[in-house]
Amino acid sequence: MDIVLTGTGSPLPDANRAGPSTLVKVGDTHILVDAGRGVVMRMAGAGSLPAFLAGMLITHLHSDHVCALNDVITTHWVMTQGNATLQIYGPVGTAQFVERQLHALEADIGYRIEHHDVLTNPPQVKVTELEPGDSFAIDDVQITTAATVHAPVRPTIGFRLEHDGSSAALVGDTIPCDGVDELARDADVYVQTVIRRDIVEMIPNEMMQDILDYHSGVTEAAQTAARVGAKRLALTHMVPAPTPDQYPEWIARAAGHYDGEIVIGDDLTTITV
Ligand SMILES: [Zn+2]
Ligand SMILES: [Zn+2]
Repeated sequence: MDIVLTGTGSPLPDANRAGPSTLVKVGDTHILVDAGRGVVMRMAGAGSLPAFLAGMLITHLHSDHVCALNDVITTHWVMTQGNATLQIYGPVGTAQFVERQLHALEADIGYRIEHHDVLTNPPQVKVTELEPGDSFAIDDVQITTAATVHAPVRPTIGFRLEHDGSSAALVGDTIPCDGVDELARDADVYVQTVIRRDIVEMIPNEMMQDILDYHSGVTEAAQTAARVGAKRLALTHMVPAPTPDQYPEWIARAAGHYDGEIVIGDDLTTITV
């Protein structure tokens, strides 16, 4: 199982970091988790495309995690010439969000169907809304879900993907909670979106201060990884984004709480488990 960090950025624009998304590849089964800014470009960089997706998973409807979903839908539609269905799984609210995306794309859908004789269908998208605790399979990848805590964003869910004895927990934006512990327990890799509390606390901006109460800090992610016995901790969606010369400091901060391997995500960092 390859876990490709296709986007390690956050809402803050960064020339080197696409918005949050992660691609899981198990042989020919490609599963995308979230669809942040620039995701389709990064999928191409990861040897994938929306047309290759067996399914896409959404953790929550914050804009940084879904703002490029329209690009995934449209590129999937055009490159399959309207002959394949994009399977989207997400929390309650996802169906309405997708329906509204399709409304926003109505003009484009009309132009392309009018222009291309072979293109007769609008985008075929099937949305499955999930409740925490649901489990299902995409091809032979087993997926379980659990509730995460990112209030006032509700609902939010995280995912655990398993195949052939390997496991990856992709939990999205959340503070430490029982759901994350459940998903990340003994996982080969636990991918956590994080902030640096100590740095954010010093930023004299009220909206930045607001993010402190609904994200995991680096030390909290490390504590979670240690508590549940995750074999690797991968940090992504880092706020503020570190430059490579700052990585050792980030790793040292996590390593004070966790003995396993710590990965600081760059776009297209790949973890094989
Ligand atoms: Zn969020
Ligand atoms: Zn986010």
